[in-house]
Amino acid sequence: MRKVYRSLAMLLAIIMIFALVGCQSAVPTSSSSLFKAGTYTGEAEGIHGMLQVEVTVDENKITEVKVVKHDETPGVSDTAITNVPADIMKYQTLAVDTVAGASVTSKAIIEAVTKALEKAGANIANLQKKPEVSATTGQTIEKQADVVIIGGGGAGLAAAISAHENGAKVIVIEKMPRVGGNTIISGSAFNAVDPVRQEKQGIEDAVEKHYTQTYEGGDKLGNPELIKTLTDNAYPAIQWLESMGMEFKDEVFTVLGGLWPRAHKPVKPLGTGYIETYMSYIEANKADIEIMVDTKATEIIMENGKAVGVKAEGKEGNVILKANKGVVVAAGGFGANIEMREKYNSIWPSLQNVKTTNHVGATGDGMVMAEKIGANLIGMDKIQLLPMGDPETGSLSGNIEQGVENRIFVNKDGDRFVDEGARRDVMTKALFEQTDATMWVIVDKHSYPTGDTKNNFNETIDQLVEQGRAYKADTIEDLAKQIGVSPENLKKAVDEFNKAVEKGGKDALGRTLFKDKLDSAPYYAGARVPTVHHTMGGIAINTSAQVLDKDGKIIPGLYAAGEVTGGIHGSNRLGGNALADINVFGRIAGESAAAGK
Ligand code: ADP
Repeated sequence: MRKVYRSLAMLLAIIMIFALVGCQSAVPTSSSSLFKAGTYTGEAEGIHGMLQVEVTVDENKITEVKVVKHDETPGVSDTAITNVPADIMKYQTLAVDTVAGASVTSKAIIEAVTKALEKAGANIANLQKKPEVSATTGQTIEKQADVVIIGGGGAGLAAAISAHENGAKVIVIEKMPRVGGNTIISGSAFNAVDPVRQEKQGIEDAVEKHYTQTYEGGDKLGNPELIKTLTDNAYPAIQWLESMGMEFKDEVFTVLGGLWPRAHKPVKPLGTGYIETYMSYIEANKADIEIMVDTKATEIIMENGKAVGVKAEGKEGNVILKANKGVVVAAGGFGANIEMREKYNSIWPSLQNVKTTNHVGATGDGMVMAEKIGANLIGMDKIQLLPMGDPETGSLSGNIEQGVENRIFVNKDGDRFVDEGARRDVMTKALFEQTDATMWVIVDKHSYPTGDTKNNFNETIDQLVEQGRAYKADTIEDLAKQIGVSPENLKKAVDEFNKAVEKGGKDALGRTLFKDKLDSAPYYAGARVPTVHHTMGGIAINTSAQVLDKDGKIIPGLYAAGEVTGGIHGSNRLGGNALADINVFGRIAGESAAAGK
């Protein structure tokens, strides 16, 4: 790709020469210059409102591009905010790549810079010309480390730290331009039985209960030993993260499909707190842990039945990474790979046209690579959907729920249709049966004491209402009118729910998780649809995160952790168990790989 930019730079140089020799152009500056020197501002709509840039040019060159104002999501948009302006300057073009996973922010930056350059009298059409794509250089980079990790999401970064703590030199390769994977855009709830927080809230819990709910919540299809490892080590993983500076809120809560109030919510939005925590450790130990972004693993190198390295493709050419002790596969799930969904799905109607919460890199590469060298893939048909997708994008953004206890779901008739504290698969199956597979989440002031109160995506309820993604009313009847459902039905649904809150126990739909009544204005509603969220199946491992082949034998030198693995969550992963999984098994995989176990 860099080569592409070089070609583009040459193209631009030619354009500049043309301009200099006085060819006819639309540039309203003097015939010998490309820009009217100065500093100009431009604005465009980002994800959460206006984004503003400042662009400085001299007569022939863009000399500085700065994003001076924005309200984008920290962590998720950071790479776009640094890389896009840098690329525009470096390659003197508007035809730069957008950053995957932050494409809205990237496009907003490009649009704002375009506006600023228009003011500078630039020939925008010339600056927008796409370069011709040329082949990569063919150069091969070779590196060596004790442990090579495929994937820089939560599991891969946790494994990198743990391998380093156990004395290893580590290389992590990440195919996207930034680390984070699905983890950074996840709801980020982390289930662990917590002797401190739960006791303060008077919540009874036990590791055995976490174990049983995980096992039974997955229809007893998960491997009991792996589940035990997960639940026993969940709280120690919280403490491990806290020891590295990670902050969780004081109160635990019940996350959607989590079945019990044991979910820990990070102080920072989405999964950014985890990634920042891992990256600050990695930054402090960068002599021993290298992260290579834009580097896509294509093959696990085997020698005499042992995994000894990884082949990859980088922006500059091919990459060969030798691993003295072990290779960890932490390349995540396949929720964003429609072909793989269609190949394996057996429990849902076709998922061809269902959107996903996943980032574009969740394409199952790790499973495909591991299977090629003999790893056993298990539970691949177990695909998790959530009933909480944004109708436009499938993302979890715009979700107005704050916790399971204080919201209800109603269909387009204004009727409740499912126990809103049920398993994720149960709720999603019920949603598929409703008109247009669409529902409204209804909350009240208990969830949003003020208009500034944010959801998990760092969005305030006022912003969502302003953007037309949520509706606000002083009465239930008015809310019903705004969202086009029967006011009588919605009123009845809320009244019956409120009675159930008073009564406690189990309501007519089987719901047992209650806290406050829906009785305090303002009331809010937000639409949601089914969305592909997580793939429970994947590479078979043992409790040391060693990869197993089809005969159940260990493949020496190969380890796996996180969503790329199978066998833990059975048919249905509990909400809040993925963050526990990636940290517990990422940590174990790093330790095992460092030991060359
Ligand atoms: P987990 O929660 O299991 O860590 P994530 O989705 O957070 O899963 O992270 C997996 C990471 O692996 C993502 O950042 C993804 O881009 C990366 N990845 C996927 N395939 C490859 C590949 N072929 N080479 C390198 N990185 C990959």
